[in-house]
Amino acid sequence: MFQRVKIKDWNVEVDRESTEQAHRQKTAGFATCSCSYCAWFRDHRAELFPNEFLDVLQTMGIDPTKDIEVYEAHEDPKWAFYGGWFHANGRLLDGPSKAVPLKIAPGEKRWRILDFSIQVNGKQDLAKADFPRPIVQVNFYGNFWTQPPNWRDRLKKQWNHWRAKMKGPSKPAAQIRKEKLSGN
Ligand SMILES: [Zn+2]
Repeated sequence: MFQRVKIKDWNVEVDRESTEQAHRQKTAGFATCSCSYCAWFRDHRAELFPNEFLDVLQTMGIDPTKDIEVYEAHEDPKWAFYGGWFHANGRLLDGPSKAVPLKIAPGEKRWRILDFSIQVNGKQDLAKADFPRPIVQVNFYGNFWTQPPNWRDRLKKQWNHWRAKMKGPSKPAAQIRKEKLSGN
C-alpha cells in the first residue's frame, strides 16, 4: 500500500511492505567487492550513517546494509568521501533537486563523520529487473575520517600556513644564523 511520507523537504509515496520484502530477497550491492575502499566501508558501516539517515531508511522500509551501490573518491590519506544510493518501491512527488545535509547528533561518532547529506530523486540507477516498480532513489554523500584526526598535525599545518603568510618562505635556522653573522 502506498503511503505518503515526508523525507526532509521531499514528499514521497512509498510502499513500505513491498520495499521490505524486496530487501529481504536482495543481496547487498557491493557485498562481494574485495577492494580496500569497499572493505573499509563494510567494516565501518555502523559508524558512517547518522541516526537521522537510519530513520529515513527505516521509514521507507530499506535495509541499511543493502545499498544498490557505494563508491569512493579518496582525497587525503586521513579522510575519504563516500557516496552511494538505495532504492525503495515508491515515487517522488516533489522536493528540492539538490542534496540536503543531515544532522549529526551529539553522542554519534562525530569524529568519524565530517558531514553527511542525502538527495531523494526519481532515478533508478542499476535497478534489477525484479525490484518492484516504481522506484524512488535515495543518494547519500558523506565525508569521513578514516583515522582519528591528529590535532598536533592539524595545529602544525595551521602554524606553517600562518608563518608562510606572515614571513614568506621559511629558511633553515642554520642559514638564518649565517646571514646574521655575515650582516645580510
Ligand atoms: Zn570495491
